[in-house]
Amino acid sequence: MTVSKLEFKTEVKELLDLMIHSLYSHKEIFLRELISNASDAIDKARFDSLTNPDLLGGDDKWKIKVIPDAKAGTVTISDNGIGMTKDEIVEHLGTIAHSGTKEFIAAAKSKNLQDNPELIGQFGVGFYSAFMVADKVVVVSRKAGTNDNASVEWESTADGSFTIEEVTKHTRGTDVILHIKTEEKKFLETWELRSIIKKYSDYIEHPIVMDVEKEKEDEKDKEKKVKVIEEETINSMKAIWLKNKSEVSEEEYNEFYKHISHDFTDPARVLHYNVEGTTEFSTILYIPSKAPFNIWYKDYEIGLALYVNRVQIMTHCEQILPVYLRFLRGVVDSSDLPLNVSREILQKNRHVDIINKSITKKALDVLSDMKKNEYDKYLGFYMEFGKILKEGIHLDFEKREELGDLLLFQSVNTKPGEYTTLQDYIDKMPLKQKEIYYIAGTSREEVVQSPYLEAFKEKGYDVLFMLDEIDGFIMDSFEFRKNKFKSVVKGDIDLDKDGEKDKKKAKEKYEKLIELIKDQLKDDVKDVRLSGRLKDSACCIVADDGGVDHNMENILKSMGQEVPVSKGIFEINPSHIIFEKMNSIFEKDKDSELLKEYTSLLYDQALLLQGSKPKDTTAFAKGVAKLMADNIAGS
Ligand code: ADP
Repeated sequence: MTVSKLEFKTEVKELLDLMIHSLYSHKEIFLRELISNASDAIDKARFDSLTNPDLLGGDDKWKIKVIPDAKAGTVTISDNGIGMTKDEIVEHLGTIAHSGTKEFIAAAKSKNLQDNPELIGQFGVGFYSAFMVADKVVVVSRKAGTNDNASVEWESTADGSFTIEEVTKHTRGTDVILHIKTEEKKFLETWELRSIIKKYSDYIEHPIVMDVEKEKEDEKDKEKKVKVIEEETINSMKAIWLKNKSEVSEEEYNEFYKHISHDFTDPARVLHYNVEGTTEFSTILYIPSKAPFNIWYKDYEIGLALYVNRVQIMTHCEQILPVYLRFLRGVVDSSDLPLNVSREILQKNRHVDIINKSITKKALDVLSDMKKNEYDKYLGFYMEFGKILKEGIHLDFEKREELGDLLLFQSVNTKPGEYTTLQDYIDKMPLKQKEIYYIAGTSREEVVQSPYLEAFKEKGYDVLFMLDEIDGFIMDSFEFRKNKFKSVVKGDIDLDKDGEKDKKKAKEKYEKLIELIKDQLKDDVKDVRLSGRLKDSACCIVADDGGVDHNMENILKSMGQEVPVSKGIFEINPSHIIFEKMNSIFEKDKDSELLKEYTSLLYDQALLLQGSKPKDTTAFAKGVAKLMADNIAGS
């Protein structure tokens, strides 16, 4: 029989290294992780056997057995689940399938993992946590439906490589044999293992058994006691979602969450309810407190675990949730769906729609309650998942207002770290203000000083900061309680309705100058006009009402989208002294070179203010230097 030696993929090596050297607390969770894997493997075997009963070879007594052996210094976790073929074991226990692993490891390395163990929890340590307590791990596995000599043995001491060998195993499933480190000997004690199982894995629906020594009456001689070894089931096995709420402790809810989510941190909220009537189901939903590291990657699996009469049908059923609630974790157990349900069937199933609606309603109610009664917790949730929730404004017309109430924004009037709600914003709107104003950008620092805000600040109008990429998409078509949203960098804004006379005068005064500027900039801008939004700055560039503003353009480009080329509108501030001066030059000599120079410089300035580069950086720098020199010469 040949033994082959294979290298772990770099990311596994690094992850193992992090885990072995940085995680010191809660090492006992290795058992939860391995039992969790065993339970998943049994779920898979049970599901596959629904359509292929031969797979089981007559053994349908599902069982996970934990076997300590003090003499050998080992603990074995044995299951009769689906098992792994040679290729599968190499793939599953030699690589990490999640995308974003590299980024995650780099982030974990840059922080002190010992102080932030939840970081690795977000990643889901799984099988590799065995190496926190073992210096050698052996896995012997036989895939369901294959014969005994097609079994495989995997072995590693976490030194960067593992070996693979074909062996004979007489039963289906997987044995994980841990050679416990000398300093972790306590994990060889039966009572210690029992208490860990009780604490972390009580809800597992398959029996977790251990051999216990019992004293029994001797059958022949009733007076005599004999010692016998019997298997005892350690966990209560009751499907937690079928229990009464009063029967489940917070700790149990939390442990169950960790089992299904692979998260280390306790969830922010738990929702446990059942529905009776034409569609019947029980569910436990969790709102996590931390986003898993891969939530923005394609391989993040959306959906809740779906059970039909306690049999797991799918680990992630996406049809049961709207996509904007994809951060939710949990289970749904329904008796109204067929056991052999496929994704196609789910797509048009009436019961699934009803469950989806019910979950959406309950989840939004809970979030609203959190926001009202546990604001700090809500804020924590919002920082992690607010962006996802916002997608609902675009996707779920019916729930728009309700979702709108859950949004939080920074604004001109909030202090850093504080937020306003849309309702709050509306309540504080001065009578004259008719729209909800916002400015898009990537950070508070970037937008807070924007010249586009000048007139709004002066009027006492608050402006919301839209700092998430998705904001631009949703706000243009959103109305919150009949209030439209308007970007301060788009369209013609006229806040000073009272100054009509002055405006008319300014228009007449600058009409010709504007024509001249327009002519000079005709290749760059669509129009030149007087601005109603500037107070101190001389000029700015804005987008058309229906157009894409510069910020949005950048966001779209960064997402790899084609952006239609659209010219902006150059706005000049009639109360700025520069135009007064330019106008007097114009009146004397409309062909003045100086006017041309100033127009170019002003346009470049406007480009800078919107975050772009001047058209010709060298010419701009030269122009500014010349102005400075002229100024000195003239003083
Ligand atoms: P995760 O469970 O998050 O996928 P793990 O590192 O714990 O990550 O396990 C990797 C993979 O190895 C699992 O997805 C599964 O395919 C396989 N695996 C682990 N343990 C078992 C087991 N006891 N039986 C069958 N397959 C297993």
